Amino acid sequence: MIQKLLIANRGEIALRIVRACNELGIKTLAVYSEADEQSLHVQLADEAICIGLAASNQSYLKGDRIIAAAEIADVDAIHPGYGFLAENAEFAEQCEECQIKFVGPSSNAIINFGDKAKAREMAVKAKVPVIPGSEGTVDDEITALKVAEKIGFPVIIKAVAGGGGKGMRTAHNSVAFKKEYNSARNEAEAAFGNGAVYIEKFLDAPRHIEIQVLGDQQGNVIHLGERDCSVQRRHQKVIEEAPSPFISDNTRKKMGKDAVKLAKSVNYEGAGTVEFLMDEEQNYYFIEMNTRIQVEHGVTEEVTGVDLVKEQLLIASGRKLNYEQKDIKFLRHAIECRVCAEDPGRNFAPCPGQVDLYYAPGGHGVRIDSHVYGGYTIPPYYDSMIAKVITYGSDRELALERMDRALGEYIIRGIKTNIAFARAIVRDPHFRKGKATTKYVEEFFQRVPKDLYT
Ligand code: ADP
Repeated sequence: MIQKLLIANRGEIALRIVRACNELGIKTLAVYSEADEQSLHVQLADEAICIGLAASNQSYLKGDRIIAAAEIADVDAIHPGYGFLAENAEFAEQCEECQIKFVGPSSNAIINFGDKAKAREMAVKAKVPVIPGSEGTVDDEITALKVAEKIGFPVIIKAVAGGGGKGMRTAHNSVAFKKEYNSARNEAEAAFGNGAVYIEKFLDAPRHIEIQVLGDQQGNVIHLGERDCSVQRRHQKVIEEAPSPFISDNTRKKMGKDAVKLAKSVNYEGAGTVEFLMDEEQNYYFIEMNTRIQVEHGVTEEVTGVDLVKEQLLIASGRKLNYEQKDIKFLRHAIECRVCAEDPGRNFAPCPGQVDLYYAPGGHGVRIDSHVYGGYTIPPYYDSMIAKVITYGSDRELALERMDRALGEYIIRGIKTNIAFARAIVRDPHFRKGKATTKYVEEFFQRVPKDLYT
């Protein structure tokens, strides 16, 4: 069993990991940047080491410093959380070389799934449906245009190294294509240091439905059902829920089986998410696999009762999975809203700063994952997400009522947040009917007066 764990992350996910470790009796080492000294996870971890300046490329992205901290403090494993180094194969490899267990899959799996074009190939090999698209990357404009014409417009040009909705452009005809192709390449080069792109058919108003999987070192893989993450702003998730209000039991089973098939085909170890897009007829297509714990993992935890972070740590310790597929039951409905320090009135611009007053909601069916407290200053250097509100209940209606109530209770003074925006969605009849596709937020902005959500 892991005895001592370094948490190579910050914010709510670092705190989430500290909590899982405390329950498992694992000692924790927090690493933090100069901007995070006052962070809750730093206060709650058993030990803490400052690894550098505020900017993440001077601290949380400095793999060598993190490994040095691990060696100084004599830890036996590193949990990368999400973001930062979580899908950095080189870092996972360095851990492997230093005989420090990286909590996640092998560096090989990270490499293969980290490249979305390769991931597509692996899905094809495992006979999991993919969206019609290019075979591998398309590296020059002329070939790319030919490929796009063959697929048929509209198409989406996507960075192989993409993430967080960056390096993705849609083109509706060949004239627009050239511009969008080059923009996608340039954006990908700037964001990921890799301008390679591939092309897919653009689905007009799909649903984003993903399957959570867990695999152990003994080769067992299970799935924990889906999360519907169709409510997105600029390809980034805003609200996630499970079960999906859209899919049938039959589709759920098929998707689960396909996700397990794909994970098994690469001896996948740890927690992972297989992401799909789905059309109106419930045809679904693989888009990517995330080889880490995801922001929205709490939704699945509240639906199934499985503690995914603990399972990650047990798997990394070499334990066989605690569950077989038949043990996984979907007990209730859960929904998550991401609370961000941003101003919906100014096009959702980040709004860091001091939180003067903080009162988090509670009560029956409400879970808050957050590192924020009254007096805490949100640094400007990192992601703007400051809390996740997860509510659950015996059915969707109850989970939604609780979400509405919880968001109404939330008091955060001193900074702007997107709480009113999330609440307006939760109250929107279209969303309540379970009708949201990935186009939903765009339509919401056209339909709903601004003062309802700013
Ligand atoms: P990222 O890794 O940047 O999050 P994904 O490949 O997971 O990128 O896609 C993110 C979102 O972009 C999807 O949930 C969906 O809304 C949109 N998207 C991606 N591919 C397509 C497609 N082929 N057609 C329509 N929308 C797409």
